[in-house]
Amino acid sequence: MLAFALLEKGCAVQIVHNAALPSSSRVAAGLYNPVVFKRLLPSWRAAEVVPFLVKKYSALEALLQEKFLFSVNISKVIENQHELETWEKRAHSEDIREFILPKISHQNPQGFKAPSVLGFGEVVQSGYVDTTIFLNAAHAYFNTLAILQNHTFDYHALELCASGLVYQNEHYDELVFCEGFFVAQNPYFSFLPFKPVKGEVLTVRIPGFQSKNILNKNFFLLPLPDGTFRLGATYDWKNLNFEPSVEAKNSLLARLSEYVSGEIEIMQHDAGVRPSSEDRRPILGPHPHHPQLHVFNGLGTKGVMLAPFFAEQLTNYLLDGKPLEHEVSAVRFYDLQKSV
Ligand SMILES: Cc1cc2nc3c(=O)[nH]c(=O)nc-3n(C[C@H](O)[C@H](O)[C@H](O)COP(=O)(O)OP(=O)(O)OC[C@H]3O[C@@H](n4cnc5c(N)ncnc54)[C@H](O)[C@@H]3O)c2cc1C
Repeated sequence: MLAFALLEKGCAVQIVHNAALPSSSRVAAGLYNPVVFKRLLPSWRAAEVVPFLVKKYSALEALLQEKFLFSVNISKVIENQHELETWEKRAHSEDIREFILPKISHQNPQGFKAPSVLGFGEVVQSGYVDTTIFLNAAHAYFNTLAILQNHTFDYHALELCASGLVYQNEHYDELVFCEGFFVAQNPYFSFLPFKPVKGEVLTVRIPGFQSKNILNKNFFLLPLPDGTFRLGATYDWKNLNFEPSVEAKNSLLARLSEYVSGEIEIMQHDAGVRPSSEDRRPILGPHPHHPQLHVFNGLGTKGVMLAPFFAEQLTNYLLDGKPLEHEVSAVRFYDLQKSV
């Protein structure tokens, strides 16, 4: 996303990316949801980032000649009186009303079982990006421009100089590390307070079950165009690896089984590590001592929603010197560097 923002402004870009390394973006369900259900509030910066992501991914669909942005409403399963009253009370509030429908729906998806369900609260301006289609198309495009180098970035081959940096005999003005979880191995930025969290998601077939909306309870169930569903997700702060686990699989299946009858057939099981930060905000901007080195990370659970908006912000900073917002700038953690 950052490469597209830089290219759009006429910047010359080279991307180093090892396709053989795991990538959270390829595992992600790609949902974007402007609502935090717990207290029925808009999610952080939703009013800005959601229209922006729709504009950006739509423009990229046109550029790449692929469909990967899908606008799909989310149905929040409402099971108790408190949730119902909160929805009805909050539905007309100025901050949230553009994102939710005030009327509770009582139409169950086909094959849905749950006698205690009181209805479904519906979220609009939500949906998902098929990240596999998007990334495949993006990489094919970068290959046609001959700007994608497929190897692991070698920190030892990096030479910093007054005018920028040299990497493998090429001079560059700036370098931005977009490494997701692998930032932990980066000698320049690993000091930042990341709090990565493993997540797992299943792709399932559920004969007899149909829903046009994404279902949300203590799981999400995302209907895909081929009739399968993505079922997620788990959160594990201890086992930070990309291996699918039996525990996560059983936990997801148990949660869904309460709401759908019949067999759930597992087609695929993926695991990844979300690059979350301690304060749950993105982290972007320059290194405290090497102004030619930058980081773009900390997208956490919301890469699809946040990446377009903050890639643009970082681009404006790099090319036009526009200040980064303090809330997302790496600068907010500079005092941590002193202790490294
Ligand atoms: C199970 C799960 C479900 C999720 N669901 C959603 C969702 O529904 N919606 C949402 O918005 N987000 C979701 N996320 C979060 C989302 O995946 C992240 O926010 C996003 O992928 C972060 O993107 P990134 O580019 O920072 O990291 P990544 O996608 O991990 O990209 C970093 C890339 O850099 C490569 N790399 C790293 N170091 C090097 C190196 N030294 N040399 C070469 N290449 C390198 C890696 O291999 C990787 O491909 C989910 C995550 C998981 C695990």
